[in-house]
Amino acid sequence: MGLLSVIVPCFNEQENIFDFYNELMKNEEFFKGQGVDFELLFIDDGSTDKTVSNVKELIAKDKRVHLISFSRNFGKEAAMYAGLNCAKGDYVAIMDCDLQDPPALLPEMYRAIAQEGYDSVATRRVNRKGEPPIRSFFARKFYKLINKMTKTEIVDGARDYRLMSRKFVDAILSMKEYNRFSKGIFGWVGFKNKWLEFENIERKKGETKWSFWKLFAYAIDGIMAFSTAPLAIASFLGLFFCVVAFIFIILIIIRQQTVGDPHNLVGWASMACIILFVSGVQLFCVGVVGQYLSKAYLEVKQRPLYIVKEEL
Ligand code: UDP
Ligand code: MG
Repeated sequence: MGLLSVIVPCFNEQENIFDFYNELMKNEEFFKGQGVDFELLFIDDGSTDKTVSNVKELIAKDKRVHLISFSRNFGKEAAMYAGLNCAKGDYVAIMDCDLQDPPALLPEMYRAIAQEGYDSVATRRVNRKGEPPIRSFFARKFYKLINKMTKTEIVDGARDYRLMSRKFVDAILSMKEYNRFSKGIFGWVGFKNKWLEFENIERKKGETKWSFWKLFAYAIDGIMAFSTAPLAIASFLGLFFCVVAFIFIILIIIRQQTVGDPHNLVGWASMACIILFVSGVQLFCVGVVGQYLSKAYLEVKQRPLYIVKEEL
């Protein structure tokens, strides 16, 4: 018998637990036919609603269901990592609890790995129907930008919904970084990957856990985790301003020797502008360096990615 582990990060998803379970179990017949058993890992990311008690209700009915409960909210990245760490399956899937990742795709994903020889099957939504327009706009810009800055391919519209072989999961687990950006990590490890596309599905119940600013911060984390281009841009700016300064010095000397400026008064306004602008650029660049330093600081501390409060 093979084993399929399904990892479900949950943060205040009380309305969705049972719906998700029922929807997933529609695949039971198919997987039984393939000789594959289920293992369901709900990762409670510090929920404050009835998520935990609902999962416990499922555990009482079905012994294939497991729960890992965090001591507080550590974020979806930590929840996914915890799930991968605990999953015992030969095949491992990560899915959202809100049914935006259709469980009906699982059989097709399974076939790609078991029969077509892929190591991972990822999903991508082809549109962003139902999403606020500003969010879609910035999301598109983010993917354009990050793909210019890094060699790792980060696909627009890619979801974290993915089925992986054991080999693939072990590769992900070998990346123990603290600042995790899975969309990049999945691409970085390589292997043979297949993409499935589907139309965006709107969340059935509950609300999205991602505010615009939470997403913005996540985007910055992603760029910093997979690119050092901002550091290179900072040094390039330094060089650029040196060249400009050098040209100015020469021009000023030439003017002094030819036309002259006896009172040295002309140009104080432009001088003030230049000083303000250049010191702004300097502070910005120091800030960029500081951001990388702070990420390195967190890595060096080697804090655990999550703390488990309860495991069932
Ligand atoms: N999630 C989590 N921790 C968080 C935020 C979200 O475990 O801090 C889970 C959430 O319960 C859901 C999945 O991650 O199962 C995706 O979240 P959501 O649907 O809010 O994101 P969206 O689909 O809007 O991008
Ligand atoms: Mg969602």
